[in-house]
Amino acid sequence: MLDKLKEIEKAASLEINDANSMPELEAIRVKFLGKKGHLTSILRGLGSLTAEERPIAGAAANETRQKTENLIEIKSKQLWETLLNVKLKTEKLDITLPGIHKEIGHLHPLRSAENKMVEIFVRMGFDVVEGPEVESTHNNFDALNSPADHPSRDMTDTFYISEGVVLRTQTSPVQIRAMQKRKPPIRIISPGRVYRCDAPDGTHSPVFHQLEGLVIDRHITLGDLKGTLDLFAQSMFGEGTKTRLRPHNFPFTEPSVEVDFSCFACGGKGCRLCKSEGWIEMLGAGMVHPNVLAGCGIDPDIYSGFAFGMGIDRVAMLKYNIRDLRLIFENDVRLIGQF
Ligand SMILES: [Zn+2]
Repeated sequence: MLDKLKEIEKAASLEINDANSMPELEAIRVKFLGKKGHLTSILRGLGSLTAEERPIAGAAANETRQKTENLIEIKSKQLWETLLNVKLKTEKLDITLPGIHKEIGHLHPLRSAENKMVEIFVRMGFDVVEGPEVESTHNNFDALNSPADHPSRDMTDTFYISEGVVLRTQTSPVQIRAMQKRKPPIRIISPGRVYRCDAPDGTHSPVFHQLEGLVIDRHITLGDLKGTLDLFAQSMFGEGTKTRLRPHNFPFTEPSVEVDFSCFACGGKGCRLCKSEGWIEMLGAGMVHPNVLAGCGIDPDIYSGFAFGMGIDRVAMLKYNIRDLRLIFENDVRLIGQF
């Protein structure tokens, strides 16, 4: 039996030495060491030996297995190295070649502008509140102190879904909902889509976007409104941007103002963007009308507040120098790809 083991060891060693590939080496392993391999069949014969011979033959068989396994391992390493060397010689990587350009999407300029606006107000402590786009005429008009004969209620200005139900013409109904639900102090902004019966042109669209703000607390004044808008103007359009309030009239607020920002393109000297005015009309605002507060269950003798509303589309157009409102909605990648 010991001779047989020597023979197996020798034969295995020769075959391993001649192996040229990993599969070939694996076949040799199976042939000698596998379940039906030469060495295994020898080990099966151990039972026929005497008690004295058995341990000697067993030890010799183990030694043969160990030696053969070692040889296979060494050969396996050699084959890997050879393979690697061949690969290194034949496969070259030129790291100076330009990479493959991948098109990556990005936010639409309208969304970028909205995110930036929201971020500025959130930093000032405003909560973001959203509301439904289909509203009751009560929330959209009545609760906002809008007279029953106000022209904005006209069918030619407002999309009516049914009697008493409209597509909201402003985001202000969200403020009504908030005042009904929350107790002062209230500090919210409501960005969202609004609808009006306008034919699309360079400055009008039947759907557009507004961001409104509302602050209600004790001792809120027009000065707080100006301070808030100053900080917004500077954060959005640059540090030197100033604001200017002009008297106006909205049913929702008293007093009401229109707010201009100093032209960020020319710094107020006058240019094409500001039509030589030095100022750009930006938003409507004012102190919340006492009727509106009372209608929402807030005592106007204790609390006061301001509200403002501006077009997100308008801010985006100014910020990104887009000259026609329709371009914002047409989603032509030649345009929106530039931002
Ligand atoms: Zn200008």
